[in-house]
Amino acid sequence: MITLFPSFPCSSLEVLLFAFMSLYRKYRPRDFQSLLGQDHVREVLQGALLKDRVSHAYLFTGPRGTGKTSTARILSRAINCLSPVDGFEPCNTCEICLAALEERLTDLVEIDAASHGLVDDARALVEQARFMPTQARKKIYIIDEVHMLSKSAFNALLKIIEEPPDYVHFILATTESHKVLDTIKSRCQRFDFHLANDQLVIAHLKDVCGAEKVYPDEGALAVLAEHARGSFRDALSLLEQVIDMPELTSQQVMSTLGLSDESSVHRLLDYLFHDDSAQALDMVEELYQQGADLSQFCQSLLEQLRLRLLKDPKNCRLLLDWVAVFYDALDQLRNPIIPQLPLEMAVLKALSFSSAIPSDTSTAALASFEALGTSPVQGSIQGIPHGMDPAQSQDANELLPQSDPGFDRDALLNAVQHVPLRTLLRYSQLSFSDQQLTIQPRSAFEVNKMKQKELLSQLMEAAQGQFGQDVSLHFVVRPQELSPLDRMLSPGIRSQDLKSVF
Ligand SMILES: [Zn+2]
Repeated sequence: MITLFPSFPCSSLEVLLFAFMSLYRKYRPRDFQSLLGQDHVREVLQGALLKDRVSHAYLFTGPRGTGKTSTARILSRAINCLSPVDGFEPCNTCEICLAALEERLTDLVEIDAASHGLVDDARALVEQARFMPTQARKKIYIIDEVHMLSKSAFNALLKIIEEPPDYVHFILATTESHKVLDTIKSRCQRFDFHLANDQLVIAHLKDVCGAEKVYPDEGALAVLAEHARGSFRDALSLLEQVIDMPELTSQQVMSTLGLSDESSVHRLLDYLFHDDSAQALDMVEELYQQGADLSQFCQSLLEQLRLRLLKDPKNCRLLLDWVAVFYDALDQLRNPIIPQLPLEMAVLKALSFSSAIPSDTSTAALASFEALGTSPVQGSIQGIPHGMDPAQSQDANELLPQSDPGFDRDALLNAVQHVPLRTLLRYSQLSFSDQQLTIQPRSAFEVNKMKQKELLSQLMEAAQGQFGQDVSLHFVVRPQELSPLDRMLSPGIRSQDLKSVF
């Protein structure tokens, strides 16, 4: 029997899942009765076994960890079992069942197409399939990840699947059925395997924990189920990593697995909705320093955005942009040169979208987001932190020239029609003297944002309206106010370097 190789893991969470597999093997379902969450598959297969009408080719499709390979193995034993229980369950004790379970039944061939997908492998298989079985009644081929077969390998296989000998059965499994040739699909009886709901995953985890004599609290089980995303295999792999902890609580599970809790996701979204780049970037840095799994964080963030979109599809423009941005980031997080960079870039891109749309859309998105009860940070929509009066932040600063006595900050702010720009200005320190408006935003990022063509022309228009046509604009930023990204991209940046005259 050829060993099955799981697909190569990609994210750090997947690497962890890959490393912990023994609980899954130990509790892998061995008969139809213990197959969870796939009743529609089980009932049809049991009926076929009872009536002795088992098909010669099956295609099992569905997400990973939903039981495709387990079902294929159960079915293969049920077909050949010498004394099936109730006529359809493999007994798992007869000579044939035991040989299959111990992986020494020569008439059961299990192939991973990811590593044996070449035409020569397929030809060898077809050649071999023409011989009668030697130990069991039927010869059974389980081909996992069948979509990985090359086109010529598919074609070689097609011949025997079209007209299989009576004693041969094929069970093909795939996570990507659209990549399987239609000619193959049309010869197979197809079953779609579904992801399990959280309740079912939790029930399964409880059974396994009971058998292992460990007793996690409900919160811990919920965290494991949530991050398993409907996959029993992932649920048990995650459980295995925490099962030896002295106490299994949700907090301990999250910190051990490097998972971020929902409140972190909501906090970042809140900063984005409030257009607060400094806090958002600081938070990414904080997550990184805490050793959080940034891919998993990004996935949770995408899930939150998805929930928002489903709840309020009419107000989706901004959210769709953000989904696209964080989706890209998730891909880049698989192999980042600087671990936190993809997420930082995504934050900046997301903020550039929110500046580009009319404020009422952003406001409505925020209002509906807060209506979900998911917004832990209190503050106004304009992004002013709770309890902070922007006017009071005008403390003395050596970079800012003394303002002319007649300078009216509020009048300037009121003259700015563009709401995101007005928000940036309210956070900035301003001074006006000698027909020069000096602006000191909170970070170099905000300086660059204000220098975007549209914002700059709006700012100039407002300034000219207040101070006349010959006004000039200066931007300055204090080094200690550089954001983590500013510091990273420009380690030697000084305020003078950023000073510009228009
Ligand atoms: Zn048996």
